[in-house]
Amino acid sequence: MTTEIDAIRSAVLEGAPGEEISSLALPEGVRGALVRADEQEMFAGVASEDKDPRTSIHVEDFPLPELAPDEAVIAVMASSINFNTVWTSIFEPLPTFGFLKRLGRESMWGARHDQPFHVIGSDASGVVVRVGSAVRNWKAGDNITVHCNYLDDQDPSAHDDSMLATNQRIWGFETNYGGLADLAIVKANQIMPKPAHLTWEEAAVNALCNSTSYRMIVSPNGSQMTQGQTVLVWGASGGIGAYACQYVLNGGGTPVGVVSSPQRAALLNELGVEAVIDRKAEGYRFWSDEHTQDPAEWLRLGKKIREVSGADPDIVFEHPGRSTMGASVFVAKRGGMIITCAATSGFNIEYDNRHLWMKLKTIKGCHFANYREAWEANRAICEGRVHPTLSKVYALPDVGEAAYQVHKNLVEGKVGVLCLAPEEGLGVTDGETRERLLPQITLFRRHAG
Ligand code: NAP
Repeated sequence: MTTEIDAIRSAVLEGAPGEEISSLALPEGVRGALVRADEQEMFAGVASEDKDPRTSIHVEDFPLPELAPDEAVIAVMASSINFNTVWTSIFEPLPTFGFLKRLGRESMWGARHDQPFHVIGSDASGVVVRVGSAVRNWKAGDNITVHCNYLDDQDPSAHDDSMLATNQRIWGFETNYGGLADLAIVKANQIMPKPAHLTWEEAAVNALCNSTSYRMIVSPNGSQMTQGQTVLVWGASGGIGAYACQYVLNGGGTPVGVVSSPQRAALLNELGVEAVIDRKAEGYRFWSDEHTQDPAEWLRLGKKIREVSGADPDIVFEHPGRSTMGASVFVAKRGGMIITCAATSGFNIEYDNRHLWMKLKTIKGCHFANYREAWEANRAICEGRVHPTLSKVYALPDVGEAAYQVHKNLVEGKVGVLCLAPEEGLGVTDGETRERLLPQITLFRRHAG
């Protein structure tokens, strides 16, 4: 028997016209990766590193909600794992059900999100299946990717830089019905064109990390790097780091990439990053015990940066947080900027403030990207100026394992997840550009073996 979802998948794979796709029936229940409210205490007393996404993420059917006028239903061909997938699945720093409850109190449409399940995922590539009555720029049949800035466009605070909006949220993390599912619900102002030269899985992994790095490195809302600047990039072969390195190189800067293995150092060299520091080989111990940092180790890092790049960093691309922030503030150049979007190793940060004020440095917070920034970052991918960093692909039923790999720092770049796409390699409509850029597009995949 052909189910509604099979019919949608077949129509997309055959490149059916929009009218045909929009006339297909939507299923009542949709397969997706979710966590359950009644399990949010399951890891009580367990250390963060031992909390296992494979036990908390379930792949099962959930009821598809009614579509709001400013929304679209997307047939998700592929999605990706982000670190927020890990945070949701280990219920840290907070279970995400509180976010859904708050959204639920805001409006009738918001109430749909407050469920005893949370369908996760903040990236997607796919095809528009339905649009609400207020959607103007997109129609059924469009090949698209999705960025995760979810905002209330009737809120005045959303109309300068929308990341400053009071009710700004991350789709699939602070909202329900995210991308790790066969169908997803998105606002029309989250949609962007799919890069024609990429497969579904290559197109799915970029938006969240690529847009974040664009804002942090390129945008005036971030550090707005200029030509010739030196940028220290922590986790330089990771999700956001590998896009940051590409923006630094594109903008005529010198990235100094920090990684934790010779394989990752080699990968960065091939990406074009010449100055690389293997933090494991160097054996940095910025914290001599739980409460004490060692400035001699900061100094040792600073010397190494000068040795490999000839300069102190104008910008430090910071996200590990507690383990590195003291060092980051110390090594930044006089007048330099530490731009931070995360604190993976701990959010209670300590640094020596004398190094900040006496050397006139700035710490700047940064978070995802507004629609314009996400659009520009997507344009860089569409034009082949920035490349996906896809290293591994899982099928949706294995999403727990995929999240586990990211949680344990076992993968480089990005991990893709096939949703409706039955296999890898589909979705390319510009074979000529793909052929030309193939070595760059597949770099991370080749290194992963
Ligand atoms: P990822 O793919 O896991 O990469 C992070 C990299 O950081 C790792 O590859 C690792 O590289 C390095 N790292 C991990 N722990 C470290 C430590 N203690 N000291 C030094 N380096 C360490 O994750 P991601 O996608 O890049 O995300 C990184 C963080 O940014 C996460 O916390 C995520 O939630 C956050 N984030 C925030 C936003 C936002 O909008 N605010 C957007 C995207 C991501 P090596 O081991 O090779 O050094």
